Amino acid sequence: MTINAEEKPSNKAAVEGRCDCGEVSVTIPDLPADMNACPCDFCSRFGALWGYFPHGSAVVAGDTTPYRRASRMIEFHRCVRCGVVTHWIDPDGHLPHMGVNMRNFDSDVIGAVPVVVEP
Ligand SMILES: [Zn+2]
Ligand SMILES: [Zn+2]
Repeated sequence: MTINAEEKPSNKAAVEGRCDCGEVSVTIPDLPADMNACPCDFCSRFGALWGYFPHGSAVVAGDTTPYRRASRMIEFHRCVRCGVVTHWIDPDGHLPHMGVNMRNFDSDVIGAVPVVVEP
């Protein structure tokens, strides 16, 4: 694949990420200010880097399966085919934001985004 440097996403353009098999795409309106390498028992199992966005502002296409942890109100979604975790949402709408696993985006695109570690 050839990438035209002028078409590379900037932090002002919508950016798309995909799971491993390509079934699920996640389009974010903008790059996040930082990405959270959440150290909790769940996220550390798969090394998520969460970018947080206003609820509904990241557009997810493709089939996902939700997993609602007993200790949390949020649903983690993973691709039905490859099992890669793509995002989480709060289905009850208590939280103003949603989380997108930035690991599914091109490393060139997210490379400049700082990583924080916040439980
Ligand atoms: Zn997949
Ligand atoms: Zn976590």
